[in-house]
Amino acid sequence: MSRRGRLIVLSGPSGVGKDTVLRKLFDIAPKLRYSVSYTTRAPREGEVDGVAYSFVDQATFLDMLAHGEFLETANVHGNLYGTSRQRVEEALARGENIVLKIDVQGAAQLRDRVPDALFIFLEPPSPEDLRERLRSRGTDDDEALRRRADDAERELNEAERYDHRVVNDDVDRAAWEILDIVVASRDENGDG
Ligand code: 5GP
Repeated sequence: MSRRGRLIVLSGPSGVGKDTVLRKLFDIAPKLRYSVSYTTRAPREGEVDGVAYSFVDQATFLDMLAHGEFLETANVHGNLYGTSRQRVEEALARGENIVLKIDVQGAAQLRDRVPDALFIFLEPPSPEDLRERLRSRGTDDDEALRRRADDAERELNEAERYDHRVVNDDVDRAAWEILDIVVASRDENGDG
């Protein structure tokens, strides 16, 4: 009988480097799956539909929401984001561990709905470091940047609600630490 997969929730403030760490994580752990979210946000340059996100308009998103198609949703920086219930369920049923890169509001919804999920928070080495990373990213205008910096501060205060906190002081090190956490949790459950 095949074992059910594990849901791995990764949160962290905007600009902390979640995408870079996740790219490394999938390099070193190719069996891990990634849950592609739906969003009403416009694609940024280079973002491919169905890879970075599934990009939908607001009417489509709200229709999916009404039909119970999301495991969790959140309004982040004025845009809607949601995790596909079907994509996650299918992966877990296949025995795959699936990673969700979601904000703290979404993670809070999953604490009740998926109690055995693994909750990991990626932190910057310092708040100053995060401000600098946000500024240097340069994908946002001033207004969006301000909003992201404010939200980032609020998100940092949520860190203590997570099972594990990983500092992104070095991309490779942080990715390996996350992988260690995933492997250790599987052993703890006695189902590895
Ligand atoms: P970005 O627009 O910069 O890609 O993402 C903005 C924020 O939305 C990030 O903190 C990201 O983790 C979060 N996010 C992305 N997809 C989802 C999702 O499906 N659900 C929730 N709750 N947050 C998401």
